Amino acid sequence: MGMKKDDLITIKIEDMSSEGLGVGRCDGMAFFVKDTVIGDVAEAKIMKLKKTYGYARLVRLLVPSADRVEPLCPVSRQCGGCQIQAMSYEAQLRFKEEKVRNNLIRIGKFENPPMEPILRMERPYRYRNKAQFPVGTDRDGRLIAGFYAGRTHSIIECADCLLGAEVNQRILSIVLAHMETYKIPPYQEQNASGLVRHVMTRVGFATGQIMVCIVINGDSLPKSEELVGNLLQLPGMTSITLNINKDATNVILGRQIKLLWGQTYIEDTIGDIRFRISPLSFYQVNPLQTEKLYAKALEYAALTGTETVWDLYCGIGTISLFLAKRAKKVCGVEIVPDAIRDARENAALNHITNAEFFVGKAEEVLPEKYKTEGITADVIVVDPPRKGCEESVLATMLRMAPKRIVYVSCDSATLARDLRYLCDNGYELTKCCPADMFGNSVHVETIVKLVRK
Ligand code: SAH
Repeated sequence: MGMKKDDLITIKIEDMSSEGLGVGRCDGMAFFVKDTVIGDVAEAKIMKLKKTYGYARLVRLLVPSADRVEPLCPVSRQCGGCQIQAMSYEAQLRFKEEKVRNNLIRIGKFENPPMEPILRMERPYRYRNKAQFPVGTDRDGRLIAGFYAGRTHSIIECADCLLGAEVNQRILSIVLAHMETYKIPPYQEQNASGLVRHVMTRVGFATGQIMVCIVINGDSLPKSEELVGNLLQLPGMTSITLNINKDATNVILGRQIKLLWGQTYIEDTIGDIRFRISPLSFYQVNPLQTEKLYAKALEYAALTGTETVWDLYCGIGTISLFLAKRAKKVCGVEIVPDAIRDARENAALNHITNAEFFVGKAEEVLPEKYKTEGITADVIVVDPPRKGCEESVLATMLRMAPKRIVYVSCDSATLARDLRYLCDNGYELTKCCPADMFGNSVHVETIVKLVRK
């Protein structure tokens, strides 16, 4: 008789899935076991069986891995954010380097990827400048804020995420107390009722400026002047806004921002460039590592001052402006109109006059401009979301035939797929550097350099 559900097995964890589950073998089957790390020997209970693999739940550790550490966060197992907090930072970095290398080999078919050592963080805590806390109630109807448990929409109470800024705790307690006092109900997903959905915060690490944006299922927040008064006690408060989101959706932010106090944006600096950041704009969440990442992008772009550079998926123009000082001209493309408005403001704020920005989808703007204006580039930088580049973007890049392509990616699987396409069509992968922007999570950023053969 083979194994069945609820059986107990003893398993040695030898690998880790890209989502951070421990993987081991038992009787020729692969098992995914949450909360285990490479090197553990564990007793686990089978929860689900497929033909060649299954899922098991950790019952007890028989021999803990040498890579294990005690997680600092009390809710690290329930919360979906830090999948690998129980691994030492050194082991996390090895895992991330291997993940990138494996994807390049397996998906990208690169035999021996030219890997540089991962750009590491000094301390993988308190590095995030942005947080989005869902607000709800616990079983007893008490107001709570926290994070979604992995793969669910039930809220784990956690007012002090150790990846985020310490001030978040105080912001949340002020907002929850306000809701308590005026009986303002939290949003409930099941029937789309209630008002307060999320509290989003951003902190400019270099400037100390704080943004609080309260996402509501309505048009106004009762007694908001009073809430503003309380939030203003926090030093650095710069921007207090409402975000209107009345849709029954998983998307956290709606499109409309209403100013409650101050200005609608905060500012921060990376290197010697100052950025204005609006609530709806993307901004790198780990500013210290971002500086290292952009320095790498600059190195890979190898600019001499004469180049025309296109920066696709440019956000608020961070990479564009970083490169502009060393290029003849930089053109950025980005889908979010608010981000492009920020990008233009940012260019002006930094007295940069050789950067131009276009709103639209990269897969529409680039082919269109190539067709109608015959645009050219010496260097193209891309930094797409997880799904990578559309084929029409890659195809147009090939036609533009830049000398170098710098690809910044937050998903090494789609990166590997896109690199294969570019390398089958005239480019060579000459450098690849992983960067740890998201310590304690399974995510890893990668930056690569391609040179036209
Ligand atoms: N390079 C920037 C932003 C990178 S994040 C930085 O380092 O800060 C990816 C950006 O791509 C986001 O700003 C997102 O809004 C944008 N984006 C997503 N899909 C897009 C598309 N199809 N075309 C252009 N931009 C897109």
